[in-house]
Parts: sequence; structure tokens; C-alpha cells
Amino acid sequence: MPQTASPEDKSLSGRVALITGSTSGIGLAIARALAAEGANVVINGLGDAAAIEKERAGLEAEFKVRAAYSPADMTKPAEIADMVAFAQKTFGSVDILVNNAGIQHVSPVEDFPPEKWDQIIAINLSSAFHAIRAAVPGMKSRKWGRIINTASAHSLVASPFKSAYVAAKHGIAGLTKTVALELATHGVTVNAISPGYVWTPLVERQIPDTMKARGLTREQVINDVLLGGQPTKQFVTVEQVGAMAAFLCSEAASQITGANMQIDGGWVAQ
Ligand code: NAD
Repeated sequence: MPQTASPEDKSLSGRVALITGSTSGIGLAIARALAAEGANVVINGLGDAAAIEKERAGLEAEFKVRAAYSPADMTKPAEIADMVAFAQKTFGSVDILVNNAGIQHVSPVEDFPPEKWDQIIAINLSSAFHAIRAAVPGMKSRKWGRIINTASAHSLVASPFKSAYVAAKHGIAGLTKTVALELATHGVTVNAISPGYVWTPLVERQIPDTMKARGLTREQVINDVLLGGQPTKQFVTVEQVGAMAAFLCSEAASQITGANMQIDGGWVAQ
């Protein structure tokens, strides 16, 4: 008779994963992929309280793991430190930290609102620094850890009208490499995942502004701007990004550190 897999049989059973910006899109898919491998998860992000609770309870029911939610705002360093402490107190450790929360704003640089610049640098770059500095001591003491930063093809190449986003993503590529070197002998790997265009609310929301900034129709933005640079002419799926995150957490990936893993349909190969 075939045996049913128990949570203990899975590759991340007993591990605790904290994923920022996981109430939507890529972060949610990463949380699901890590829970599917048996990790207890702490989700984080903005959104409707009832919808978030449904997601949290759904993770527990579907994957037979424990799931908790932190409402920490990634623009607030003290809340980020509290989020890491909450995860450690609730589940005993943070073994896997996924810095994923991010926002976008599309505008010519001379019209770019300074407060949007500050907000994007805070959420897309500085929040990763604050979470890493809070989580690293525990990872070092346990001699095991995985830090994954959701970067972007925009950590490697630029596009016009996204000055803050491209600056933050290039920054996170540098932060990834630096922390990877610092933790190389401590059993902790630090990597970035750089998707091209993934169909999520973040991408959908920037279509109207891109139409305005470039004077294009919705179809032209999707086909010529978004998929224009993606040679496969297909959007990346959130599940593909989740699968990469799960792989980076595996023992097979223990010698991958300081890497920037592209999942971009060939975008930055051009
Ligand atoms: P999304 O809008 O679907 O999700 C963003 C998440 O971040 C949400 O959970 C949101 O609540 C959270 N968030 C936003 N502001 C926050 C704050 N102040 N505090 C806490 N949480 C906050 O977007 P997505 O496309 O899934 O993007 C996730 C990450 O992937 C981002 O870092 C983004 O830059 C990156 N990325 C996305 C694409 C893409 O094409 N969608 C491509 C490359 C990289």
C-alpha cells in the first residue's frame, strides 16, 4: 500500500520561513512553495484582514504546517525588527528569510515625486537590510540559514521611467553579494531571484501609468513594453518563482551563494 507523506518527510520540515510581502503575487507563491516543502511560515503584507486570515488558515489546512501573520510595515525599521522577533517567538527561529515586499512607480525622473522615491527605497531595499540584520544572529548561532531577496531583471538592466525601482533593485543585488560573503562560512546562503515580467497585481497596476508616460494603448504596453523585452514573449509565473525559492532552500543549493538567479525568458541575455 503506498505510504502517505507526512510533514516530517519533507525537505523543509522543522524550518521556519518568514516571507515579506506575501499577501499577494510572488510572495504568496513563495510562501506556498516553502509550506509545500514542510516549512512553518510567517506571512506579511498589506491587505484586507479577512482575506489575509483566509490565506493564513488556508496555508495551514492545505500544507499541514503552522502559519502566522505579521502586519509589519516595511517602511518602518522598528516594525521590521519586531516582525523578526515575533517569528522567532512564535515558531522558535527564522531559518529562511525572503525579502520580497516591493512596490513600483512609473514616472519621468523630473516628475518623480520625492516621497515615492523614499517609499520605494524603503520598501524595496532598506527593509531587506533591516530584516537581514535582525535575522542573521539566529541563523549564525544555528549554523544554517537561507536568505533570498526578490530582486528583478531591473537589478541587472534598466528601463526608463523607473528610476527609484531600478536603483533599489541594483542596490539589493549589491546587498545580496555583500551579505553572502559575510555569511559564507556560517552555513547561511544569500541569493537573489531576478524575475522578468511576472503577471501579478504589481505589473497590472503599472499599465495605466506606462500608457500615460509613453502615450501607448494597453495592448501596446503589454506586447511592446512588458513582453517586448522578454524574448520568450510569455510572462513568468509566480509558481516558477516559488519553485526557485524552494530550490535555493534545499541542500542541493548549499553551494549557491551570492548568486542572482534570473527567471526572465531571456531578457537580460540580450
Ligand atoms: P504584488 O503587488 O502582488 O505584491 C507585493 C507585496 O508587497 C504585497 O503582499 C504587498 O502587500 C506587500 N507590500 C507592499 N508595501 C508594503 C509595505 N509597506 N509593508 C509590507 N508589505 C508591503 O507584487 P509582486 O509582483 O508579487 O512583487 C513582489 C516582488 O517581486 C517585489 O519586490 C517586486 O519588485 C518583485 N518583482 C516583480 C516582478 C513582476 O513582474 N511582478 C518582476 C520582478 C520583480
